[in-house]
Amino acid sequence: PDQLIRKSIKHGFCFNILCIGETGIGKSALVSSLFNTDFEDSPSTHFLSSVRLRAQTFELLESNVLLKLTVVKTVGFGDQMNKADTYQPIVDYVDAQFEAYLEEELKVIRSLFSYHDTRIHVCLYFISPTGRSLKTIDLLTMRSLDSKVNIIPVIGKADSISKNELQDYKKKIMSELASNGIRIYQFPTDDETVSEINTITNGYLPFAVVGSMEKVKIGNKMVRARQYPWGIVKVENENHCDTIKLRRMLCTNMEDLKEKTRAYYESYRRCRLETLGCRDIGPENKSVSLQEVIEAKRLEFCLEVERKEEEIKQRFVQRVKEKATMLEEAEQQVLTKCEHLTLMRQEEELKLGEKKKLLEDDKAHFVEKKAVTKSIQSQVSSVSSPV
Ligand code: GDP
Repeated sequence: PDQLIRKSIKHGFCFNILCIGETGIGKSALVSSLFNTDFEDSPSTHFLSSVRLRAQTFELLESNVLLKLTVVKTVGFGDQMNKADTYQPIVDYVDAQFEAYLEEELKVIRSLFSYHDTRIHVCLYFISPTGRSLKTIDLLTMRSLDSKVNIIPVIGKADSISKNELQDYKKKIMSELASNGIRIYQFPTDDETVSEINTITNGYLPFAVVGSMEKVKIGNKMVRARQYPWGIVKVENENHCDTIKLRRMLCTNMEDLKEKTRAYYESYRRCRLETLGCRDIGPENKSVSLQEVIEAKRLEFCLEVERKEEEIKQRFVQRVKEKATMLEEAEQQVLTKCEHLTLMRQEEELKLGEKKKLLEDDKAHFVEKKAVTKSIQSQVSSVSSPV
C-alpha cells in the first residue's frame, strides 16, 4: 500500500470538470469557490453565433499532492435565437476526448501513463434559479449527454431564490428529470464507508450553489461570501447553500466518478471499434482477429483507391476527348471561313481586273481621240493663216 500511495502522490491526480450553463450563471465563480483559487478567466459575451467550449488546465498543489485540474466551460450557451443544436458542440467535445484517448490506446508505442487524459469526469449542469420548470434546452442537453458523462445538476445563483421556493424547485427539477428519462449521477451507496453520507447527499440533488470571487472579513477570518445590503451569504456555510456539500462529494467520490467515466468510455470504444469492423476472437467468431480486420480494411482501402484512380483517369480521358472534338470543330469553322474569304477576294480581284481593262480601253480611246483632234486643229490653223 505504501508503494502505491507514494507512486500515486508522485504522479499526481487528474480531474476534468465540464461546466454547462448560460453565460453569467456563475460557472467561473463556482469553480473558483470549489477549489478556493481565483482562476484567471475573461468574461464571455452574449453575442456568439454558436456555443463553444473553453478548456483551461491548472496545477493545484495541496499537502504535496498535485492535482491537474481541467475546467471546460461552455461559452455562449443559450445565447442564440435558434437553440435547436445548442448541445451538439458539447456532445462533439465529449466524444473528441474519448476519441483522443482511443487513438492513444491504439498506438503501437503508447504512453498512457504520462498521457494527459482529458476525458470528462463530471459535468456540472447549471440550472437557472427561475423556480419554474426546466427549460427545453436543459432537457435536450442533459438527455444528449447522460450516456456519456456523469451529470450533477446544480441550481446556479441559488441565493436569488427563497428557502421554501428552493425546496419546491428542487423537487420539481428531480421529477421533471425522472419523467423525461434523464439519468443523472447518483453518489454510490454500495460502499459502506460512504453509503450513509451518500444516501443523504443524493437527497440534496440538485445542489443549490452560490459562488463568489470576493472574500469578506468575518470576525478575524477572510471567507468567500457575497455581501448584500441586508446581509452576507457565506459560500462555505451549509445553511446558506450547498456549495460545500458539492465540494465534499466531489472529493470523496472522485474515484467513483472516474470509474463511471471509464465505463462510458468503454461503451464509446466498443461502438467505435464495432463500426470499424473489429470483433473479439471468441469461440463463435474465431476467424476474425484485429490483424485480419486491419488487413481486410487495408485491402478494402487499396481497392477503393484503385477504383477512384480509374474513375479519375476515365473522366480525364473523356474530358480530353471532348476538348479535342471541340477544337476540331473550331478548326473546321476557321477553315470554312478562310475558304469563303479567299473566294470573296478572288471575285473582288476579277471585278477589279475587268474595271481596270475598261479604264485602259477608255484611256486608249481618249488618247486616239486627242490625237485626231490635234491633227484637225493643226490643219485648221494652217488653212486660216494669211499666206
Ligand atoms: P459565468 O459566465 O457563468 O462564468 O458567470 P460568472 O461566474 O462570471 O458570474 C457572472 C456574474 O454573476 C458575476 O458578476 C458574479 O459575481 C455573479 N455571480 C456568480 N455567482 C453568483 C451567485 O452564486 N449568486 C449571485 N447572486 N451572483 C453570482
